[in-house]
Amino acid sequence: MNPIYKKLCSFLALILTIFLTANTQEDDKKIRIIMIGAHPDDCDDDGGGTAALFAQMGYAVKFVSITNGDAGHQLIGGAELAKRRFAEAQEAGKRLGVTCDVLDNHDGQLMPTLEVRLQIIKKIREWNADIVIAPRPNDYHPDHRYTGVLVQDAAYMVAVPNIAPETPALKKNPVFLYFQDRFQRPNPFRPDIAVDITNVFDKKVSALDAHVSQMYEWLPWIGHYADKVPKDKSDRVKWLAETRKQPIRTDVKTALEKWYGKEKAATIKNAEAFEICEYGAQPSDEEIKKMFPMLGK
Ligand SMILES: [Zn+2]
Repeated sequence: MNPIYKKLCSFLALILTIFLTANTQEDDKKIRIIMIGAHPDDCDDDGGGTAALFAQMGYAVKFVSITNGDAGHQLIGGAELAKRRFAEAQEAGKRLGVTCDVLDNHDGQLMPTLEVRLQIIKKIREWNADIVIAPRPNDYHPDHRYTGVLVQDAAYMVAVPNIAPETPALKKNPVFLYFQDRFQRPNPFRPDIAVDITNVFDKKVSALDAHVSQMYEWLPWIGHYADKVPKDKSDRVKWLAETRKQPIRTDVKTALEKWYGKEKAATIKNAEAFEICEYGAQPSDEEIKKMFPMLGK
């Protein structure tokens, strides 16, 4: 064979190999999810079931709490409470198979500042997130509202290299989603995506059970139902599961029917729903199915 021709052939073979390898890597790429809440138990509460399903499929999921939770208790506070809540978040993360970060901002005092926005941009970039989930800016708690604003403010900016240049910008704006909530003004939550979490509901409850200071102490105290909390540990978990079993809303049911079909949707006992934020990438239904492979199964 002509040596020049031979060289050309091996060069073309090399190009083909590089092209095929790159394509396979692209196909194999697993979606990376980051859920961002105001407090160390928020992501478990709003997205724990979906996180457990992603984790079971080997997907990388991270929870970030923007505050350290140092105000959420009636008897203790400050560093002592922050330390306790950090440990609870780590235990909950272990039970779900996700990693948990807690930022050192004070609980109950969160403001939508540039400083915190940059902290969030950094977290989303470091995780190389494809999906970012956070609360809507409509909520009873100011920390939840500002978390919603801060994460919205991080959308688009995560792809701008001149912003926080010490952390490389993402190549594309991720899909930003909102957790489900009950608030009506100025507009109610719209369930664009609904996930069947029936099979991992116990896992979600187990993660919530790790947040002892919240589930069995603070929330019952501030909600005036502390007398309802059972003393025994296993009775407590059963009680927690009962309190977390919410009837599925009509609009969420309609979304479940869209993604799972009517027959399967009728059997679903627990669900988590998400709304697509206008400021992130806008996925088509086909792209949503690729990002959430559990839909329809
Ligand atoms: Zn919260």
